[in-house]
Amino acid sequence: MVFTYKTTSGDTLTKVANRFHIRIEDLLAANKEIPSSHSYLYPGRHLLIPDNASSTKRKKLYPCSEEYGWRELENDRRLLQSQTIKGLKVEQIGQSVMKKPLWLFKYGRGQKKIFLTGTWHGNEWMNSWLLMNFLKTFIKKVNTKAPWLGYSPHKLYQDATLFIVPLVNPDGAELVQEGLSKGHSHYEQVAAINDGWSDFRHWSANINGVDLNHQWPAGWKEEAKTSPKQPWYRHYGGASPISEPESKSIYLLTMKEDFSHVLAFHSQGQEIYWGYRDMEPKVCKSLAERLASASSYHPVKTAASAAGFKDWFIKEWKRPGFTIETGIGKNPLPFDASLEMWLNNVPLILESLTFPSFSPPLDKWEKE
Ligand SMILES: [Zn+2]
Repeated sequence: MVFTYKTTSGDTLTKVANRFHIRIEDLLAANKEIPSSHSYLYPGRHLLIPDNASSTKRKKLYPCSEEYGWRELENDRRLLQSQTIKGLKVEQIGQSVMKKPLWLFKYGRGQKKIFLTGTWHGNEWMNSWLLMNFLKTFIKKVNTKAPWLGYSPHKLYQDATLFIVPLVNPDGAELVQEGLSKGHSHYEQVAAINDGWSDFRHWSANINGVDLNHQWPAGWKEEAKTSPKQPWYRHYGGASPISEPESKSIYLLTMKEDFSHVLAFHSQGQEIYWGYRDMEPKVCKSLAERLASASSYHPVKTAASAAGFKDWFIKEWKRPGFTIETGIGKNPLPFDASLEMWLNNVPLILESLTFPSFSPPLDKWEKE
């Protein structure tokens, strides 16, 4: 038994396979004109769906089992907002180049504000799943006063307020996940950057071809000398620092709030970057070691490049800032990477919530 399904916006091979409980292999076998499991499905395509009774049933083996982008974030946001959750506030802090909302989730009752961000780079979208899954689970643990890996979420909730922007680059993530359809608002520009190729899994920039984590005023000019000189799929720092609506929104939020420390989630490498040109507070080394013990990730003082958000945060605020490189392999990480990512980063985030407050006065803790 076979039936036909007409694809709509947002469909991917993985999502269709999950929806009908079939394996991608069986979906490809029934639709021989689809070249590979990396192919994009554009809206309006007629797919033959094999009856799952006659094929091997697809099993969900990993915690993240399909692409997480702005649509999934919308679902999670609506779900969270439909419940009355004490201590949770959801705000739109801006919008992307393609006018997708940039959402901020604030949760907690403490004075100490901790800022977590994910998916600065389009092909690192699994970090949005990680942060939202963390938030949803954390809320449940707080409400039931249940312990979590030896930590007390309820106590952490009393002591700190989490600020989470899970999806900094929704347009880039969408391009990586869904490809470039003819009706795309930036079709010509994006197709030109990609030299006409139809695969976008390597894309990390925003839809203007600007790298959102390579355009912060911390070594920006020097970085620009050795970076692409025009819009590119990665590493172009823009015509000026913070030129893009996504980075501007993060900048304005960071200037408004008095964040005690920040964690920017990237992929991949299983590493924790904690320094910037010796401008970081001395305590950062031991804090990074605490994150490393919690996660088994490797602490590294500085990456070879500058102009990142955490570089700017350290330079501007003289407070701890970390880049967490989750997972290992090639971006976008495969679904099986989500298991390691979850197991190592839950304790990492929980540990970061136990850090002392670095909000002013700075001198006080620096002398201790
Ligand atoms: Zn990245």
